[in-house]
Amino acid sequence: MTSPSDRSGANPSASNPSASNPSASNPSATALRARGAAALATAGIDAAATDAGWLLAHVLGIEPGRLILADDPTAAQAAAYDALIARRAERIPLQHLTAEASFAGVELAVGPGVFVPRPETELLVEWAARACADVAEPGAAVRVVDLCSGSGALALAVATAVPRAAMVAVERSPSALDYLRRNAAAQPSSVADRVRVVAGDVTDPDVWAELGVVDVIVCNPPYVPAAAPVSPEVAHDPAEAVFSGETGMDLIVELVPLLAEGLRPGGVVALEHDDTTAAATVDVFVADGRFTEVVGHRDLAGRPRYVTARRADPATVQGWKP
Ligand code: GLN
Repeated sequence: MTSPSDRSGANPSASNPSASNPSASNPSATALRARGAAALATAGIDAAATDAGWLLAHVLGIEPGRLILADDPTAAQAAAYDALIARRAERIPLQHLTAEASFAGVELAVGPGVFVPRPETELLVEWAARACADVAEPGAAVRVVDLCSGSGALALAVATAVPRAAMVAVERSPSALDYLRRNAAAQPSSVADRVRVVAGDVTDPDVWAELGVVDVIVCNPPYVPAAAPVSPEVAHDPAEAVFSGETGMDLIVELVPLLAEGLRPGGVVALEHDDTTAAATVDVFVADGRFTEVVGHRDLAGRPRYVTARRADPATVQGWKP
């Protein structure tokens, strides 16, 4: 039973024999961060110090880089931080606790019901920016589609990075669509005005009829093999955004022929895949027969991560499928 006099720390000199801080002042930001990092490391979290810093910065309403300069947190802030550390130690994703994710410089609302974007997918933004520079007349609009858009991470980051991108984001999950629409609306109008959201399944012919023929496609589909061991955090992502059949290839196999139809001749696609399915993904593009320049790419950790391909020109492809 806490009496009003010792509840808030407002009177730090009030007697409290069990207080862990004998000087009776609040712990510094640095001390709180170290304490949280130790708890997260004990919970098996690799990036424990980074996560503790993000959570403390979130509670203090500052950028993580400014923690070193922060005033000592109040007792209420310390309590809020400790509560977040306890939840993170239960392996709830960091981004669900802060309700936001940073992706290629774009801030996104995320939480239960939508896939948390991963840093390795940022490579597709860089690729798309280069692809957009190559595929159309300088200055002309570039038609770009993001399939399986989720929170809108790729769509919004590419639209931000490429001012002449006319972007369409396709997503079927109602809960993901809520985040996607909210995230699109939160961008500056110079970006938001160039992003159209299409609700639908990426294997639905009606969706493709609505998209028309485009210059560039990016896609981070569900691709993890159903029985693959995943971290406790991944269990908080919607399963339909993560897994795709026994080998992880179910959606990719269905999608590649649709990509060939949706890209103009010379148009290009980047498709993320599991690190166990690089060769299988390349094979699907090659076997389709309508792509050239099928190339596998690694992520910054050196793992095979995405395949790019160019829609061939019908005139130059042998055995062309009409
Ligand atoms: N690479 C992601 C993970 O680590 C899965 C991404 C996906 O299925 N698109 O869980």
